[in-house]
Amino acid sequence: MTSNAVDPRNRSHAHPSLAEVEARIAEAARAARRGRGDITLIAVSKTFDSNDIIPVLKAGQIDYGENRVQEAKAKWPELKKQFSRAKLHLIGPLQTNKAAEAVALFDAIHTVDRPKLAKVLAEELRQQHRNLKLFIQINTGEEPQKSGARPDEADEFIDYCQSKLLLPITGLMCLPPIDEEPALHFALLAKIATRNGIADLSMGMSSDLEKAIAFGATHIRVGTAIFGTSPGQL
Ligand SMILES: *Cc1c(COP(=O)(O)O)cnc(C)c1O
Repeated sequence: MTSNAVDPRNRSHAHPSLAEVEARIAEAARAARRGRGDITLIAVSKTFDSNDIIPVLKAGQIDYGENRVQEAKAKWPELKKQFSRAKLHLIGPLQTNKAAEAVALFDAIHTVDRPKLAKVLAEELRQQHRNLKLFIQINTGEEPQKSGARPDEADEFIDYCQSKLLLPITGLMCLPPIDEEPALHFALLAKIATRNGIADLSMGMSSDLEKAIAFGATHIRVGTAIFGTSPGQL
C-alpha cells in the first residue's frame, strides 16, 4: 500500500529543508511551552509541481496549502491517489463561482472573508454533504488591496457565519502587511479569536513562524523554507 508512505513516524531526514522547519517549530513550541501536537504545519506547495511535492509527501508531511483552485485541481487528485492521507488547505482568495469545486477538493478553507462567499459555502457544504474546516480571514492591516474582513467588522461577520449560516468556523487567518511588525497582527488576530471563542489561528510563514507560535498559532503556512523560491517568485 503506497499510502503508507505518508506516515508521521517516518517524518524526517529524507527532506532536509522540511527537517529544518520541523526543528524550528519544535524549538519555538518549547520556548512557548506549547505542545508540538497543537501546531499544524501546512507546507505551501503553490507554484510547485508534483515532482517537488512528492519528496515532501514521502517524508511524512500531511498538510499542504494551495492558493488557486484551478492549480490545486490540476495537481492534487492524482497525488491523493498515491498519498491518500494528504490534506489540502485553500489559502488564497476564493471566488463564489469556484466555491463548489473548492468544497469538493479541499479539507480546509482559510479565506472565508465576506457574507456572499459564506452563504455560497454554506449551501455547497449542505449539498455535497461535506464538512470542511473553515477559517475567517481578517485583514488585520486594513490594506485596501487585500482580502479579509475588517477588524472592526470581524465580530459581526463571525456571528453571521456561525449563528445565521451555521458554518463550522474553526479558526481565524491573517496575512500581515509585508512592511509591518507581524507580532502586532498576530496579537490582534489572537485577541479577536479569544473574544469570539474561536480556537484555531492560521498565522505565520517562513520568515515569522516562531513569532506566530509564540502568539498562539495553531496552523502555520510555510512555503519558501520548505520548497525554496519558485521560478515565478524570483
Ligand atoms: C505563499 C503563502 C504563504 C507561504 O509564504 P512563505 O513566505 O513562502 O512561507 C503563506 N500564506 C499565504 C496566504 C501564502 O499565499
